[in-house]
Amino acid sequence: MVHGPGLLFVVSGPSGAGKDTLVDALRARMPRLRYSVSATTRDPRPGEKEGEHYFFLSRQEFERRREEAGFLEWREYNNHLYGTPRDYVMSTLAEGYDLMMKPEVNGALAIKQAFNDAVLIFLLPDKFSHLRERLLARRTETNEEIARRLEIAHNEVQYIRSFDYIVINEQQRSEEAVRDLEAILHAERFRIHRYGDDTLHKVEHS
Ligand code: 5GP
Repeated sequence: MVHGPGLLFVVSGPSGAGKDTLVDALRARMPRLRYSVSATTRDPRPGEKEGEHYFFLSRQEFERRREEAGFLEWREYNNHLYGTPRDYVMSTLAEGYDLMMKPEVNGALAIKQAFNDAVLIFLLPDKFSHLRERLLARRTETNEEIARRLEIAHNEVQYIRSFDYIVINEQQRSEEAVRDLEAILHAERFRIHRYGDDTLHKVEHS
């Protein structure tokens, strides 16, 4: 019954909370859900693919696109630039597809400014100490980088009240967190304000 622009879901939260794994699992369960691939100037990690995990750009190329207003939002995180390409988001929503993205917290807030209707989900581990354990376990960052990411994480949590939902990713129980995310996505579709006046009018007078 609901047609019109797709819904925009923003999953954010500190590095190490499990955003990547949970969003991958969610996409496998919801094949119609589109995903916005970000651009970054950081180097690919082993196994990361161009155009799938990120668009890996030189700083010069990133800045060029930024100047052309090619990003809906962008941020410097840990000495690298990250940005959400504008065109894909606009065309996907206009075609009526639901779209997910997973920027860091400031990026999520910038998206909310641009799209008041965006649904912001804050993902947290059950214990803050698990962030460090997860970052150590994935062995992709140096100890210094991990320390910087944890410092950023402490700041990010202060913005939690600007979000619509909180999902806790408990260790060893990430299946539950995926189900929680799925429940949020489903429930959001049924909110009254998502229905156009015409549809509501028909409901009232049927
Ligand atoms: P990572 O280097 O671990 O892939 O990402 C570092 C941080 O940048 C993560 O918190 C990730 O969510 C965030 N990030 C990824 N893409 C974007 C983006 O397009 N915009 C913003 N603001 N943050 C992003």
